[in-house]
Amino acid sequence: MAVYKVADYIVSSDDEIALQEALAGSYDLGTEDVRPRCLCRREEPGNENHEGIPMYIAHVNDKYVIKRMPNSAQEHTAACDSYEFETGMTGYGALLGSAIQEGPEVTTLKPDYSLTEGGGRGPSVSEVETERSEVEASSPKLTLRSTLHYLWTAAGLTKWIPGFAGKRTWKTVLNLLNAAVKNKEIKGTALGEVLYIPETYSLERKDDIALGRVGRMRKIASGDTGKKRLMLLVAEFKEFKAIPSGHNLVVEQMPDFPFLMDENFKGDFEKAFKLERELHKQFAGHLMVIATFSFSRVGTATLKKTSAMLVDDHWLPYEDDAEKSVIDALVNTGRTFEVLPRFNKKWDTARPSIFLTDTSPKPWALYIIPQGVTDDYHAQRLAQASKNLSYMDWHWDPGSESIKHFPYSREEEKRLDTQSWDEIARREKLALDQRVAEALREPPAPHTERTAPPPATSFQPEPLPATDKGDILEVAPLSNAIHTADLLDVTHSEEKEILDSAFDDDRSGVEPDVLESEHGKPRDLLPVQTEEAEKIDRESPAPPVASDDVSQLPI
Ligand SMILES: [Zn+2]
Repeated sequence: MAVYKVADYIVSSDDEIALQEALAGSYDLGTEDVRPRCLCRREEPGNENHEGIPMYIAHVNDKYVIKRMPNSAQEHTAACDSYEFETGMTGYGALLGSAIQEGPEVTTLKPDYSLTEGGGRGPSVSEVETERSEVEASSPKLTLRSTLHYLWTAAGLTKWIPGFAGKRTWKTVLNLLNAAVKNKEIKGTALGEVLYIPETYSLERKDDIALGRVGRMRKIASGDTGKKRLMLLVAEFKEFKAIPSGHNLVVEQMPDFPFLMDENFKGDFEKAFKLERELHKQFAGHLMVIATFSFSRVGTATLKKTSAMLVDDHWLPYEDDAEKSVIDALVNTGRTFEVLPRFNKKWDTARPSIFLTDTSPKPWALYIIPQGVTDDYHAQRLAQASKNLSYMDWHWDPGSESIKHFPYSREEEKRLDTQSWDEIARREKLALDQRVAEALREPPAPHTERTAPPPATSFQPEPLPATDKGDILEVAPLSNAIHTADLLDVTHSEEKEILDSAFDDDRSGVEPDVLESEHGKPRDLLPVQTEEAEKIDRESPAPPVASDDVSQLPI
């Protein structure tokens, strides 16, 4: 939801009729003087009289659309519809202007796959798009998977607010996707014409649905002279169905319309999406497939090239179990955030996976460090953090530490304002004592490549006294050295000394803050945290502490 000032009217984007009326009046006048303004900044304390950020009006398909001015995305608040994160850092931003070209009325998509039979470099058989076939730098075009990431992003299916819980059905997803497809072009054709997304299946309407489907497919497949055109399918994977000559792919909502494929396809698909298939079995949710397919004169569809993407129960996309656990924790604690799909970014490229947008004064970029990344990853992440001052950064290495607490939301900060800082400092001190005590009790762990986090049950802290405002505070996470130091007036080097002295004999069992690298040199995480701590001091009055449920979540 956004609020705009259009001429003399204040209208909400929720009120479509009033907004259309106001925009139409303003559009007809057509002068710079009546430029509409987005009033998102007025939501901020002390900014109630903000004049608004200038926007412009486009007239598309008999509708008036309000759009942000070029290069103004970061002037909007993180919660505003017009806000966009720093380009280049996210997979989406990196493709804006090349694979995704936003015009005033139409957005043009540049795919790296063919939409004609026998076109492109690939063979004319069923093919699975694999990671190896994607090269970030040399292919500034949309892969099939990036197309799916784009559709999800454009449809707003990557965004989450607590109010969405229980309301995202396939029908909602379908409506959002169909709305997002409008005003998009791919290979010179309207995306809505070539893209087939199954409508909600109904036994009573199955004949109508089948007729409509065949009509649309036939139009694309035989509409033009020259090369036979392909269509694009976006649907939920259901199963591979055995037939005498091999297997068919069956998708949800289309039980009566299997897709034919080459015999090697099933094996290739299972190999390429092994992780996705396993996670799908473990967490349920939905496995989305995107594919190009041909349609024959006899009414059968054959898969050409396919890719896949995992989404959770709320249709939020995720890459692996670590991302899933962060998304779950955020959903369960009522947070507002946006998932940032990878697009063409390689798995080991530093990129935020999620933006937390309910924080003040800036959003937080959540980096979930993939297993097996090199020092390059950390260098990239730090470069991004030091260059981009429009967000704060949080990172978690699931390979070596328990999930970290999240930054406070605005709501949590409000609640905390009622707590005395002395009490917070007392609890932080308790946490530090506990951390040192725990480290001293731990027997030296045998050396392993990656160090597992200490078991949660190895030390039982004294229960904290309940406060009169309810028990909304947790002790700080053990790995949160920055904030402990900030509150206790202990310098970072002093804290490092305390911890170092505790681990003089064997450092292999401690947390990554004080771990040595494989080359024997101290990792630069400590100075990094100092920089980050300074950034936090500069930018944010409150240290990140999560709400209660997070620590309870399985990792
Ligand atoms: Zn705005």
